[in-house]
Amino acid sequence: MADTIFAKILAGEIPADFVHQDELCVAFQDIAPQAPVHILVIPRKPLTSLHVAAQEDGELLGHMLRICSKVAGSAGLAEDGYRVVTNIGEDGGQAVEHLHFHVLGGRSLTWPPG
Ligand code: AMP
Repeated sequence: MADTIFAKILAGEIPADFVHQDELCVAFQDIAPQAPVHILVIPRKPLTSLHVAAQEDGELLGHMLRICSKVAGSAGLAEDGYRVVTNIGEDGGQAVEHLHFHVLGGRSLTWPPG
């Protein structure tokens, strides 16, 4: 596991604007928001991406998705909707090799993505 920027955030070595923290995952504001609401949900467990998650990680993944909906609701996105995205690998546009779900909303999001 590379010593990623998210590992440093989890270790408290660099700051983040947290909106949720529990024993399994944390959520914080994206530093370069692509929408009025852009929150990242990441596991404490150092998984590089969704692709390497195993069956035993199912409970963690389910929990993280529940936290995505929770932080989206807290950000006022429940009524108008929002998007949850995870990028995987080079073609997926993944820049940070630590699993993360993007929670995006606050504007009408286009489809398909670029
Ligand atoms: P991805 O391209 O899917 O790997 O997404 C990585 C995300 O991490 C991007 O949206 C970045 O803006 C975000 N990011 C990078 N560094 C930080 C940081 N220090 N704090 C918060 N978000 C960050």
